[in-house]
Amino acid sequence: MKKIKEILTATTRSHWVGDGFNVRPVFAHLAFTLDISPFLMFDYAAPREFEATDQKRGVGPHPHRGFETVTIAYQGEIEHGDSVGNRGVIGVGDVQWMTAASGIIHEEFLSHEFLKKGGTLEMVQLWVNLPAKDKMLAPKYQPILSQEIPVVELPDNSGSLRVIAGNYAGIQGAATTFSPVDLWDIKIKAGKTVELNVPAGHNAMLFVRRGSISLDGNKAGTGDLAMLEREGLTISLQASEKASVLLMGGEPINEPIVASGPFVMNTEQEIRQAMMDYQSGNMGRMQA
Ligand code: MN
Repeated sequence: MKKIKEILTATTRSHWVGDGFNVRPVFAHLAFTLDISPFLMFDYAAPREFEATDQKRGVGPHPHRGFETVTIAYQGEIEHGDSVGNRGVIGVGDVQWMTAASGIIHEEFLSHEFLKKGGTLEMVQLWVNLPAKDKMLAPKYQPILSQEIPVVELPDNSGSLRVIAGNYAGIQGAATTFSPVDLWDIKIKAGKTVELNVPAGHNAMLFVRRGSISLDGNKAGTGDLAMLEREGLTISLQASEKASVLLMGGEPINEPIVASGPFVMNTEQEIRQAMMDYQSGNMGRMQA
């Protein structure tokens, strides 16, 4: 059995990314540390009402290099455009897996359709590191629609699991990754227990988005993050009430992390190069 290493209780601290995303930094002091590798950062926009408007809301063109951004829309819609020419809407249940790699410039807004009527937004943006050997590959973009994500019914009618990435019980996830990553979106029914296997040696964390769960004698409530020990294989989750959890697991990338704003590289020199490449236009330009 895997043991709990630490439970980070839900932060009430939040900040705005542009004027569209009011997010809580779920990884807190662990962000950008090897303790959670290959994950870097996790912004959670808890459910929030937006009034109808004709204005744009979100964040305008900005660069990224050296890692991947994974955006999951739970409620509301996000519109994306980038320097490679990709454009799209991330709707409810959809996931956008964007590999910035050598560099991309993109913008992220609440969708025009969503803002026209107004409504509730709830989303996640998870940053996943790339191994050094892949940081300067060409950027890549995986727009994954909800219906493309395998949904597995869990044993004993205990709930369901969406395999966004990785492998659950032989079912391959929808996203391709550069290092072993499991990203599973799990719903557990009230009173049920779910057992999950995450390979020994991998870092694994569970974010409780709704409800509360018990695991290894600890309780994790809404907004909490449970960090598991690398040792052991199986995690057993009990839901006393209906719960939704996001499991993030992955093989640690044991390479130095040097993060500066939108760039995550291995050395200071590479960060300086990223800034120069962005400023000189070598990272590409937004396309109209
Ligand atoms: Mn971005």
